[in-house]
Parts: sequence; structure tokens; C-alpha cells
Amino acid sequence: MPRQVVAFTTDKRFVRRARELRTIEAMVRLYCRGHDHPQRKPLCTDCAELFEYATRRLERCVFGDAKPTCANCTVHCYSAQMREQIRVVMQWAGPRMLLRHPILSIFHVLYGRRPAPTLPGKPPKRAE
Ligand code: SF4
Ligand SMILES: [Zn+2]
Repeated sequence: MPRQVVAFTTDKRFVRRARELRTIEAMVRLYCRGHDHPQRKPLCTDCAELFEYATRRLERCVFGDAKPTCANCTVHCYSAQMREQIRVVMQWAGPRMLLRHPILSIFHVLYGRRPAPTLPGKPPKRAE
């Protein structure tokens, strides 16, 4: 049976993921504009694809609202290619977020400090 996807952006119980989605959107927009990608509306095709992918991952996150930041995740549901793309975006946009979106930026740093949960029956991955 397919897993149910929750429309979390309109449900207050999912406030953390909704905030994380806003953070990712702000970072991808900053990156797209900062690199002057052509045909932005407001994102270019590649950045729009990356944002849609990140949105789907967030909607289906096995941890729900208890999720860690994806960088600290013990599961890593992103494909290798998308994981590298979002890593590049976040590395570039992270420092710039503090000026443009200070509140989202502070929450992102705080979430990053939370211990990463593991799924039942799965031992945590060893640090690389
Ligand atoms: S990488 Fe981990 S925390 Fe991020 S959406 Fe996937 S399962 Fe959830
Ligand atoms: Zn772009």
C-alpha cells in the first residue's frame, strides 16, 4: 500500500517542516538569483526541479516533524546527485541567509544542533 503523504504546509502540527520548506525555498531562490540563472520565474528550471525534489522528500520524510536537518540525517533519502546539488546550494546560501532571512537562519542552526533520531531497529550510521 502506498505511504500516505501529509499536506503539512497547511497543518499546524507540521510547523517544523513547513518552516524548513520556507528555509529551503529561500536558499534555492538566493542561489538561483545570486548565480544569475537564466529564465527565472522565480526559479530557473534546474533550481525549480531541485526545490520540487526537496519538497517531496520533506513531505515523505520518515521522521515526520521529529526530523533532523537533512545534513545530519541517519537515513539520507536523497539521491546522490540531488544530495550534492542541495549541499552546494546550502553551502553557498547559508552565510547569506543570516542577512536576508535571520529568523529562518537561526532556526536552521538550532535544528542542526538537535540529535538525529534513528528509525526503530536501525542502528545509527557511524560518523564518516
Ligand atoms: S534526508 Fe533524512 S531528514 Fe531529510 S527528508 Fe530524507 S529522511 Fe527526512
Ligand atoms: Zn537556478
